[in-house]
Amino acid sequence: MKDSHGRTIDYLRISLTDRCNLRCIYCMPEEGVHALAHEDILSLEEIERLVRIAADMGITRVRLTGGEPLVRRGVVDLVRALRETPGIENVALTTNGILLPRMAEELKAAGLSRVNISLDTLDADQYAAITRRGSFEEAMAGIDAALEAGFSPVKVNAVVVKSLNQDVLSFARMSIDRPLHVRFIEYMPVGESAGSCGCGWGKEDVIASDDLRAMIDEQAREAGIGGLVPASKHRPAGWGPARYFEFENALGTVGFISPLSRHFCSECNRLRLTADGKIRPCLFSDNEFDVRGVLRSGAGDDAVRDVLYAALGEKPDDHHDRVGTDRGMSQIGG
Ligand code: SAM
Ligand code: SF4
Repeated sequence: MKDSHGRTIDYLRISLTDRCNLRCIYCMPEEGVHALAHEDILSLEEIERLVRIAADMGITRVRLTGGEPLVRRGVVDLVRALRETPGIENVALTTNGILLPRMAEELKAAGLSRVNISLDTLDADQYAAITRRGSFEEAMAGIDAALEAGFSPVKVNAVVVKSLNQDVLSFARMSIDRPLHVRFIEYMPVGESAGSCGCGWGKEDVIASDDLRAMIDEQAREAGIGGLVPASKHRPAGWGPARYFEFENALGTVGFISPLSRHFCSECNRLRLTADGKIRPCLFSDNEFDVRGVLRSGAGDDAVRDVLYAALGEKPDDHHDRVGTDRGMSQIGG
C-alpha cells in the first residue's frame, strides 16, 4: 500500500482507549479528564474487522497503544484475534508497564510479539512527580515481567524534558546488564496549543537527540564506562525510526528517536487509528477520517477500504515543525 508520496504504508498504530491509570505531565491533565463514552469507542469486533480489511490492503504490523492499552477489557483476546488475522505478522504493545506483572504471561501466550515500556526516570520520587499516580516499583516490575515472559526485544522509552533534569546516564546504563533497548524520545508538541496537559510544552524543554547523545557519551566516559558507539551486535528488530548505539559489552542498546531535530517523515510507514474510530494519517496533523461511522453503517468492506485509501491519499509529506494539535497524545494514541 503506497501513499501519494510513494511511501509504503504497512504499519497501523491502534489506540484501544483514551483512559489511563497514570497522568504523565507531558500527556494528560491531572484532573478533569473527559474520557470518551463507552459507545464512542470502537468495539473489539470493530477493531478486528478494520484490521482484517487493512491487512488485506497491505498492513502487516500493528501496535496497540492508548491511553493505557492494558486497562482495556479484552485486550488479551484482541491480541490473539489480531495474530490470527491473515496477513498480520506482528502485534506489538506500548504500555506504561504497571499491569505487566499481572498480564505479561497471558499476553505472550496470546501471541503478542513485542513490548515497549514507557519509563522516564529511575528516581522513584521523580517517577511519582512525572506520572502523578504511578508507583516506580510497579513500573520496574513490569520491565522484569516482560523479560521473564520471554519478550524480545524489550524496549524502554523515555521522553526527555530538559527542565526535569533526568539522570540520563543511569537510564542509559540499564542497557548494559540486561537485554534492554533504552530509547530517548524528543519531547513533542502534541496537545491543544501543546500545553493544555499541564506541562506547558516549549521549545526550550526539548533536548535534540544529537546533544543528548553527546551528553550521555561525555558522562559515560567520565564515569569510566566508555562512550557510545553505533550499535552492531544487538540492534533490536523494529519498525521505527530510532538510531541505535551501545556501550562496550552491553547486552542491549541505547536508541534516539528524533521527530523534531531529524524529521523521519520521508520514511514514515504508518497510519493511526484513534480509540473513537478516526484514521489519522499523521500524528502532527488534525486531519482525521471517520471510519467508525462506516463500520457501524452496515456498509460492506469496500466502504471501509475507501476511508483507508482517502486517509492514505491525505498523508502529508512532512509535519513541517507544526506545534500543537487539537488532541493530546493519550487521545491520539502515542
Ligand atoms: N500509556 C502507554 C505508555 O505510556 O506507553 C501508551 C500510550 S503513551 C501516549 C505512548 C508514548 O507516548 C509513551 O511512550 C509516552 O511517553 C509518549 N508521549 C506522550 N506524550 C508525549 C510527548 N508530548 N512527547 C513525546 N512523547 C510523548
Ligand atoms: Fe498514560 Fe501513557 Fe500518557 Fe502516561 S504517557 S499518561 S502512561 S497514556
